[in-house]
Amino acid sequence: MAVNLYDGTQPPSQYHSNPKKGGNMVSSAGDDGANVTLVTWFIRLSLVSLAVCYVYNPTIMDAVIGNVWLQLLDSPLYMWDSFEPTVAVLSFVFFIFAWWLHDFGARFYWHKLMCVVQRCMGKGSTGLDNLCVTMNDRTATKRNSGQRQKRIPDELRPMHKAWHTRAAVPMAEYAQYAFIAVMFLVPLYAFDLLFPRRHMRLDGVGAPSFGRVCCEVVCALLLYDSIFYFWHRFMHSDARVYRIVHAVHHKYTSPITARETIRLSVVELWVDSIISVVTLNVLFCHPLSRCTFNVVIVYLLTELHCGCDYPWMPHNVIPFNLVTGPKIHGKHHRLPNRAFAKFFTHWDSWLSTA
Ligand SMILES: [Zn+2]
Ligand SMILES: [Zn+2]
Repeated sequence: MAVNLYDGTQPPSQYHSNPKKGGNMVSSAGDDGANVTLVTWFIRLSLVSLAVCYVYNPTIMDAVIGNVWLQLLDSPLYMWDSFEPTVAVLSFVFFIFAWWLHDFGARFYWHKLMCVVQRCMGKGSTGLDNLCVTMNDRTATKRNSGQRQKRIPDELRPMHKAWHTRAAVPMAEYAQYAFIAVMFLVPLYAFDLLFPRRHMRLDGVGAPSFGRVCCEVVCALLLYDSIFYFWHRFMHSDARVYRIVHAVHHKYTSPITARETIRLSVVELWVDSIISVVTLNVLFCHPLSRCTFNVVIVYLLTELHCGCDYPWMPHNVIPFNLVTGPKIHGKHHRLPNRAFAKFFTHWDSWLSTA
C-alpha cells in the first residue's frame, strides 16, 4: 500500500530497482510508475463524480459554501486581523505533528498489518507483494529450520531504524521552531495591530461558489509554484545565496521528514510567505479561497517532505505525472540541481531540470 522512499542506506540508483533491499517496498505500480491501487481509483472516481454532480447541479455545494461563509462572518476569530497567518502557523503545527506520529511507529506497524492482510486475503491484496512474499518465505524457512523468529524482519530494519532516528526530535530543534514562529508571527501581529483592515476588506463581500474556491486554490498553487521555481533555481545557482538562504533546508538529504518543511532560514521563510501573499493578491482571491489555500499549501508542503508514497496522495491520484509529490521532492533533497518545482512538474520538464 505504501512505498517508503529512498532511506539513505544504499546508492540512489538502486532505489526502486531491488525490492528485496531495505526500505524499498514496491507496490503494484500502475501507469507512469505511480503507486496506483484500488484506493487511487476510488478517489479518482469520487472526484470525477463530484465534479460531474457539481456541474449538473451546483446549488447544494454552493449553499453549503454560502452557509460556511455566513458562519465565518459572524465569528470574531475569523474577523481577527491576524487570522490568516495564525491559521497558517497552526496548520504547520497540526500537519507536522500528524506526520511525526506517523513516523514514530505507525508506519512500521502499518506494514506489519498489511502483511497479515496479505496472508489472509492472498497475493496482490495489499500492493506489498515483494515485501510480504519475502517476509512469509523467511518466516517459513526459519520455522522449518527451528530458528527463533525475529521480531523485526530484515526488510524493515534499515527503514525502521532510519526513521526512528529522525523521528526523535532533538531539543535544539524545538528552539529553532519557536524562533521561526516568533520571527514570522511577531512582525505580522505588530503590523495588523497598527493597521487593522480586515473588517473593511470583508464588508459586503458575498459568498463564493464552490467552483470559484476550487479554481482559485488551483490557480494560486500554479502561480505560486511558477514564482517559486525561479526563486528556488536562483537560490541554487549562487553559492553565497545558497549558503546563507537555502542550505539549512538541505541539511538532511535522506531520510527527510515533514519537519524539513519549516527548516528554513528567516529570509527564505519570508520570501516564501511573500510569494504566497502576492499570488493571492494578484489573482484577487476570495477571502475563503485565501484561507483554504493556506491550509492546502501547508498540507502539500508537509506531504512533500514526509518520505512516503501512498496511493491516495495527489501525485498518484492525478495521472500523467503532472504533480510532483514526495518522490520527486525527495530527489531534489538528494540531487539539489534537479526538480526545483514544489507542486507541479511542467517547469522542470520544460526547462530540462526534471
Ligand atoms: Zn524541501
Ligand atoms: Zn533546494
